[in-house]
Amino acid sequence: MATWDTSDLGKETCDQCGTIYSVTGKQYPCRDKDSFTCSCGNKIRSWNGTMSYSYTPIKDEKITE
Ligand SMILES: [Zn+2]
Repeated sequence: MATWDTSDLGKETCDQCGTIYSVTGKQYPCRDKDSFTCSCGNKIRSWNGTMSYSYTPIKDEKITE
């Protein structure tokens, strides 16, 4: 059993380079101020709270629109 819940927040796509990230959020007991910047330099998310976000690039999926 995990002490802190990790939530699957789905996918986010970088507006600039199209990289798709799998996003998870994790609840922490203390506040966390951080941000995630894509490798292309585009800041995808910033946060300031007890939820911390983790971005994992997905390489074998293509954007379908
Ligand atoms: Zn990018």
